[in-house]
Amino acid sequence: MDSAREGAGAADPVTYWLDAYDRIVAVNEAWDAFAAANGGEEVMSTNGVIGQSLLDYVVGDKTRLVIDSCLRVARGMARPRQWSYRCDSPSMRRYQRMTIIPDAEETLRVEHELLRTEPIVPNFHFGFSKDRDALRRCSICNRLEYGTLWCESTALADRGAEVSAPVQVAYTVCPTCEQLAHPLPDGLTPR
Ligand SMILES: [Zn+2]
Repeated sequence: MDSAREGAGAADPVTYWLDAYDRIVAVNEAWDAFAAANGGEEVMSTNGVIGQSLLDYVVGDKTRLVIDSCLRVARGMARPRQWSYRCDSPSMRRYQRMTIIPDAEETLRVEHELLRTEPIVPNFHFGFSKDRDALRRCSICNRLEYGTLWCESTALADRGAEVSAPVQVAYTVCPTCEQLAHPLPDGLTPR
């Protein structure tokens, strides 16, 4: 792990290593740099993230189940799995790729790469809600649920949402992305 940490630079994928119980045993410099740049000082390697369960940092019960399933499948298949997801900022669609690489002794290396970005206009800020009736947002593709449809956040503008106030959402996983939990060999690319 130390040799992997050496030489890690800003352009490297955000990477962490999990033990057999999904506890974070190491992170790279890109992890710390990303955390520092996004107000996540509490999850930097110097602040106690090492030894914590990855799943404790995942918001939303359904999202936790899907991530847990993906980790189990990667271990069960004993070969890398990869898929795309979104991790938008208020002003940018951020298209990312996650790769889970099984290592020795049931440990996993997990990499997150930023593939490309697109501006979002207008842009909305989101806040966490524990209200069961809150608008639901998919943690994987970042779309919002309207009835039977899952829409981009820009659909909020059509529904009269105020750009200035954070939109309170509950995090879940949409039906399309839920298929990620199934043991497909090459993963899926959410629409
Ligand atoms: Zn989704």
